[in-house]
Amino acid sequence: MIVAAAIASAAISIAGPAPATLHGDLDAAAAYWQQSTPVRCSTETAAFAKLPGLVLGEATIPDPAVSAPCTMTIERGLSARLRCLTVVHEYGHWLGFHHSKNKLSPMYPIIGAGAVVPECDRA
Ligand SMILES: [Zn+2]
Repeated sequence: MIVAAAIASAAISIAGPAPATLHGDLDAAAAYWQQSTPVRCSTETAAFAKLPGLVLGEATIPDPAVSAPCTMTIERGLSARLRCLTVVHEYGHWLGFHHSKNKLSPMYPIIGAGAVVPECDRA
């Protein structure tokens, strides 16, 4: 099935700091969402997480008819916590979640100090 193939090819492309640290962020995101891998790729458009004038991250979810992987791009130079929150946010888009109006949710469109993600507060 085409969708299954897209899931199997899910990959991560991150333009950012050290891979070891980013693996930790991805582990945190998977733990937060209680997933080990993205569960689906869909045609839905993933929005950017933005601070005013700054795109922190982008989740790309390709058309299942196209055999392209899901990708994630994270801005360089973020603090460890902000980067983790951004990965959790974009991972949420991978899973098909839309933006939340709850400022405590990592799916709030503007990621900031208010988000409650204990997985990102671990040392
Ligand atoms: Zn978003």
